[in-house]
Amino acid sequence: MQKNITVLKGDGIGPEIVDQAIKVLGVIEEKFGHKFEYTEVDIGGCSIDKYGVPITDEGMAKCKAADSVLLGAVGGPKWDSCPPAIRPEKALLAVRSELGLFANLRPTKLFPQLSDSSPLKESIVGNGIDLMIVRELTGGIYFGKRRTEEINGEKVATDEMTYSEHEIERIGRVAFESARKRGKKVASVDKANVLDSSRLWRAVMHKLAEEYPDVEYSDILVDNTAMQLIKNPSQFDVIVTENMFGDILSDEASMLTGSIGMMPSASLSEGTLGMYEPIHGSAPDIAGMDIANPIGTIMSAAMMLRYSFGMAVEADAIEAAVNKALDDGYRTADIYDAAKCGTTKVGCSEMGDIIAKNIA
Ligand code: NAD
Repeated sequence: MQKNITVLKGDGIGPEIVDQAIKVLGVIEEKFGHKFEYTEVDIGGCSIDKYGVPITDEGMAKCKAADSVLLGAVGGPKWDSCPPAIRPEKALLAVRSELGLFANLRPTKLFPQLSDSSPLKESIVGNGIDLMIVRELTGGIYFGKRRTEEINGEKVATDEMTYSEHEIERIGRVAFESARKRGKKVASVDKANVLDSSRLWRAVMHKLAEEYPDVEYSDILVDNTAMQLIKNPSQFDVIVTENMFGDILSDEASMLTGSIGMMPSASLSEGTLGMYEPIHGSAPDIAGMDIANPIGTIMSAAMMLRYSFGMAVEADAIEAAVNKALDDGYRTADIYDAAKCGTTKVGCSEMGDIIAKNIA
């Protein structure tokens, strides 16, 4: 297969981690006979420096024309004082909205080899954690009507949370289809005891669940979910929820895995076009030092193969290669524990080499 990938390396550690993902994809090309064509586009601070905007119209057109988009991270202290309209993150929101990326998938995996790195006790995470959060990304309170007005001599601010049946149904389908490829369980998170939007959410999910009798379905309130993620995270397979609840719960869940550098994500449209990125930021404190963990980005590339290109075997090969690197004791600084025997500290580029070699 031939696929066109638009590459947005971005700022800080973005270029060094994306280079490792491209290194790994190079081995996939050789081993499985594919051809990946890369088009680089500046995004974030580096684009502001060159063009005065966080992404140019031509850059956006190249994202839209691609088979998929691979992103590093954007931002850094240099651009913190930019006016809101041209801040680096503006480009991310623009790409998500222009590409219609309504579904955000965040696999939360604690590899058993790294259970020491989790803040939770061994008795809770000893067998690893493997759950998927499916977050609605283009609706809800972040996109609802908002206003601040003067009422009876004081300021009153309002943010509306709105969901329509079709928005709920399409994210629900993504969750049920994901569950079919995993542990066949969906937990739908809402606040149906209080919110109308959650009651509609629940009704649509129940109707959808009838179409997926092979998937075990449950409702769970968002406050209980926050507790259960800490108490017994391995009870979950796929969690599906609206935009703001998903924003908060996915950050909570990311902490269970030990290092933010391990976590990939995918943002999907109604077609096959998606954007794939690690969940962390540009880590300016370690940029250019060759010590960043590239695994979140490499696993994002694996998600790209699985979700946008339908290359499940190739994605499995990348995931197995990461697993082997960890089994063999290789650790970047963020997951390295000097007191643990049998482990070797490696840099960002060396971790990329090891994972690429494991595939070859
Ligand atoms: P961050 O995720 O960049 O860093 C938080 C901490 O985690 C830092 O100590 C960093 O060194 C560490 N870290 C992050 N990724 C790592 C990796 N791969 N390997 C090892 N350690 C890693 O968050 P921050 O410091 O709050 O933000 C820095 C910049 O990134 C800001 O400008 C912020 O706006 C931006 N940001 C961008 C995105 C994105 O591009 N999607 C997301 C979040 C933050």
